[in-house]
Amino acid sequence: SFTLAIVGRPNVGKSTLFNRLVGKRLALVDDQPGVTRDLREGEARLGDLRFTVVDTAGLEEATDESLQGRMRKLTERAVGMADACLFMIDARAGVLAADEVFADILRKKSAHVILGANKSEGRAADAGFLEAYALGLGEPLRLSAEHGEGMAELHAVLAPLIEAAEARLDAEAAPEVDVDLSDEDDDEDMEAPVRMPTAARPLQVAVVGRPNAGKSTLINQILGEDRLLTGPEAGITRDSISLSMDWQGTPVRLFDTAGMRKRAKVQDKLEKLSVSDGLRAVKFAEVVVVLLDAQIPFEAQDLKIADLAEREGRAVVIAVNKWDLETDRQDKLIALKEEFARLLPQLRGAPLVTVSALTGRGLDRLHDAVISAYTVWNRRVPTARLNRWLAGMLEMHPPPAPGGRRIKLRYMTQVKTRPPAFVVMASVPEKLPESYRRYLVNGLREDFEMPGTPIRLTFRGQG
Ligand code: GDP
Repeated sequence: SFTLAIVGRPNVGKSTLFNRLVGKRLALVDDQPGVTRDLREGEARLGDLRFTVVDTAGLEEATDESLQGRMRKLTERAVGMADACLFMIDARAGVLAADEVFADILRKKSAHVILGANKSEGRAADAGFLEAYALGLGEPLRLSAEHGEGMAELHAVLAPLIEAAEARLDAEAAPEVDVDLSDEDDDEDMEAPVRMPTAARPLQVAVVGRPNAGKSTLINQILGEDRLLTGPEAGITRDSISLSMDWQGTPVRLFDTAGMRKRAKVQDKLEKLSVSDGLRAVKFAEVVVVLLDAQIPFEAQDLKIADLAEREGRAVVIAVNKWDLETDRQDKLIALKEEFARLLPQLRGAPLVTVSALTGRGLDRLHDAVISAYTVWNRRVPTARLNRWLAGMLEMHPPPAPGGRRIKLRYMTQVKTRPPAFVVMASVPEKLPESYRRYLVNGLREDFEMPGTPIRLTFRGQG
């Protein structure tokens, strides 16, 4: 199975995290002589994820002078057997020289490094958290192994890695006979079909919104629908952070912030969770449903979370709840759409649907909007078509010519999906005004039918 190695210097909290992930499901301790004795292995669970975790915890007690050398050997061993490494530092202590040693090993030896800034609960960790960026190992996760914080973020980072590893295994077991549609070299104008969610790869949806927007009611209504179709609790699996179900035929994993909060209340951690659960949910999700209360829509908090979802590059659907309470629906809808366009221009074209979580009305429309947002978010436009389009756009509205020399845009390609990201090669990219970028982004949105999805477009020079 997929193996994650937890590495880092002693006392950063590796064992605490190991224990949290493994619980009582500790595998037999490797009893072979030599360094292997110091590696612990266990079957980890994180939400719906199952994987093997390896920990170098045996060294925490070692104090002899050969520690450095042994630690290095052991880490290299753990890294060698792992698909990914979680490199932990102590955010309260900041980045120490010993941490750098590990960073070096990881940079050289590991395919995937996840940087975890542990002991991050509270302000005391802020400085260390920022220092962690300087390790050059990507964005650190804010973790508190002790308090169980950052687990959703860890889940969000691990899920695609595990998924990819499993897909690789599947591919090895059953070689593809079809033509490879994912071929990057697309001379033809054929667009690869979007891979739709499957039971093994459910669509990850988060419902976010202010308290009392109706998140719990909505989730229960969706579950209720499902239950009617499939019998009590059938097909529904619940874990600490998400619910898996079949939503009108679409395998969906729903990130349940409302449920999380309610469970957290029991554990008396209400405050900590409510601050960041919106953020966690957004990080977890492919599609974010921003649930508004029709009576008080587009409050500051709503705008903040919608903007966050856009900045994180998620597909966004705006759902206006409690529609059953509205009397003047026509006018209200027009007003809502105007407000939406004015207050969230960055989400231009994102679907806005009205629902009643209470009665279940509009939930089929919500389902369809989620699927369509997901599809658009996954689109890949063939390079040939993009460049024909770019030529037309340049002709219609040429780029500026600062100092009499027109900026040239030479070539364009889509480098990424989820969300769609494009790169345009330019003669002097730094001189292109933001307005020109917006012109191209809006054009892409309209001409290639990508409403609502965040679109990234960057200009690059070619030297
Ligand atoms: P959460 O905090 O976002 O999870 O909100 P809840 O689901 O707990 O709902 C808050 C309140 O709004 C409850 O009293 C619900 O009964 C009510 N509510 C939720 N959805 C609707 C709706 O569609 N129509 C009406 N009239 N009330 C709703």
